[in-house]
Amino acid sequence: MIRCPRCNSRHIYPVAGGYGGWTYRCKDCGYSGPLVVEFDGENQLENENLQRKFRHETNEWRQRQHPYIWAAILIICFIIALIFFLLL
Ligand SMILES: [Zn+2]
Repeated sequence: MIRCPRCNSRHIYPVAGGYGGWTYRCKDCGYSGPLVVEFDGENQLENENLQRKFRHETNEWRQRQHPYIWAAILIICFIIALIFFLLL
């Protein structure tokens, strides 16, 4: 049995994925991704570890997306503020 790593729903089903793997989709929360929680009814610890892993990988993925863009925006805002401060 598989479960959704985001909302723990059982209403998750595989769809054809890219890169030769499977992608799973959750009917309840709309989650779509290659990670699912395999659930056998008593392996609760494993379940929690997988959820933690999923959250960790999601965070890593988010951090990889935009760190430089946000740093650049922050620096630009700082420079604009500095220019205004010097002009006024
Ligand atoms: Zn879900």
